[in-house]
Order: sequence, then structure tokens, then C-alpha cells
Amino acid sequence: MHELEKILSEALNQFAVTENAVELEQVKARFLGKDGHVTALLKGLGKLSSEERPVAGARINQIKQSIEKALQQKREALQYNLLQQKLKAESLDVTLPGRGMGYGGIHPVTRTLERIEVLFRSLGFSVASGPEIESDFYNFTALNIPENHPARAMHDTFYIDEKHVLRTHTSPVQIRYMENNDPPIRIIAPGRVYRCDSDMTHSPMFHQVEGLWIDENVSFSVLKEVLSDFMQCYFERDDLQVRFRPSFFPFTEPSAEMDIQCVQCNGKGCRVCSQTGWLEVLGSGMVHPNVLKHVNIDSEKYLGFAFGLGVERLAMLRYGVADLRLFYDGDLRFLKQFN
Ligand SMILES: [Zn+2]
Repeated sequence: MHELEKILSEALNQFAVTENAVELEQVKARFLGKDGHVTALLKGLGKLSSEERPVAGARINQIKQSIEKALQQKREALQYNLLQQKLKAESLDVTLPGRGMGYGGIHPVTRTLERIEVLFRSLGFSVASGPEIESDFYNFTALNIPENHPARAMHDTFYIDEKHVLRTHTSPVQIRYMENNDPPIRIIAPGRVYRCDSDMTHSPMFHQVEGLWIDENVSFSVLKEVLSDFMQCYFERDDLQVRFRPSFFPFTEPSAEMDIQCVQCNGKGCRVCSQTGWLEVLGSGMVHPNVLKHVNIDSEKYLGFAFGLGVERLAMLRYGVADLRLFYDGDLRFLKQFN
């Protein structure tokens, strides 16, 4: 029976060093196959006596079962290894950070523009637009600023050629609108405007919102009410104090600058308001009869008021930004604060 133990240990040794399924089948054939060692032993049983046969047969079967069991275990181990290799090859590393697109946000100036539009729409104004390259006529002449008029010096203008400019205000939109629409008119004209100017509070390109309301009984008190309401809504301050100071614009008469109580110091005086407690926020006035004449509106019948405000200025005051140029540096550390 010593031979049986030898066959078993040999089979177990060979299974142990087998590395794949093909080799395993070859080892199996060597022991359990038609000409295998165990099969040969079983065949040899016939030569034994009838007393020896059952004992030897039982023993051989035991060995055979042990080998079969070892074979099955090895098969499963090889399959498991194969599966692990496959999983490793096809694995997804779910801990890798995604390559997702960074999400953008709305620029603070656009956000401010949208806010201004929403507030004026709620006051019954609609939004009009016009070209950024304007003719000399629409940018100046039609607005009661004739050639050689000293008021032209108020605007440091970018000229495209002798007769065309980058618009210095969005007022030309009002002229174009009045040419094509009869009163009553209630519009705002938001958009980009251009002036040769650059410092902490000026940029060569900035945004303006101009407004125009023309009807039979639009008085200066309506102007005051609309603009006061707007400023209180914009700064979310019902008690925001405002004041109007006489001023001059060629296209309005009378004209007024509007100031609001300083939103940083509540009128006590600080750096933002140059210690005055007041902030200048827009220019306004009753539309000059000459402007109405240019667009064939009867100035005896209709009255109107107009105003213009700087969008960046309002954004700076609302968000407490000290330097206007920050809006256009494209620095994400700055811009991300608004989203
Ligand atoms: Zn102040």
C-alpha cells in the first residue's frame, strides 16, 4: 500500500505546481485517465485474491476520491485566479476624480444689468436696444449737441471715422425708438458704451442703462418717484434717502443729478462717499423740446423725462467693490465670489 501513498502525494505535488487549466487536465490524465496510475491500480485488482480485493479496492477508491477532491479544489482556485486577473485588467478606479466641466456663473455686471431690467420692467418699462457703432448724428446732433458745441468735450469719444463713433451713451437708442414709435413711450436702453477714460472708477468700456418715459402728463415729480422707487428696490432699503441737485445736460431741461444716502456708512461719512454721506448715482431731467422736435413729437402736447445710470457704479456700490477694473481683469478668485 506504500505505492498508493506515493501516488497520492505525487498527484498533490503536481497539482500544486500547475499554473493553468490545460496543465491541470494533463496532470489529471496522468493519474485518473484511461492509462493513468490510479486506473492501472484498479485494473490490477483482478490479480489479487478475493480476500485482498475488497480492502485494496476500498483503499484505491479512497485515494481516487482524494485525488478528485484535490483536482476540484485546484480547478476552482485556477478559475478564481483567472477571474481576479480579468477583474484587475478591466477594473475602473472609482476613486479617480471626474473630468467634469467646471460650471460657470453670471458675471457681476451682467447680474446687476439683469436686476436693473427686472426692476424697471416691474415699473412698466420695456427694453430697447441699438447699435454700438453710432453715427455722429444719433450720438450727438439729435441729442441737442450740435457740431462745435462745448458739450461734445464732455465725452472723450472714440471715433471710427469722421462721421461714426463708438457710442458714448445709450441715448441714441432713445432717438431711434422715438423715430419709430409714437408716444406714450416707456423704455430703458441698457448696453455697452465707450469713452477714452481709465482709472479706478472709469473703464474705456462700461455699461449704461438709460430710461425714457414720454406721455401727456409726465412731470418732474413722476421722475422723482420712479427713480426713488428704483433705488430703494435696487438697494433693498425702504428708508433710503435721495436728493436731486440741479445740473446740466444738453438733452434735458431742467436737468438733475440724483444722489442717494451713502449705502456704506448710512450717511455718516466714509471713504466711499468722500465723507459727504451722499453718493452720486445718476443724471436725469425733462426731455429737451429740441430733442422731441428732432423726432417729430409735439412738445406742446407731450412731456417726458430721461435718465442715465452707470451699471458698474451700481454694482460696485451694491457689492462693495472699490476698483471698477476688477470687473474686467477676468480674475476667477474675484468673480467666483458672486456665484
Ligand atoms: Zn459713506
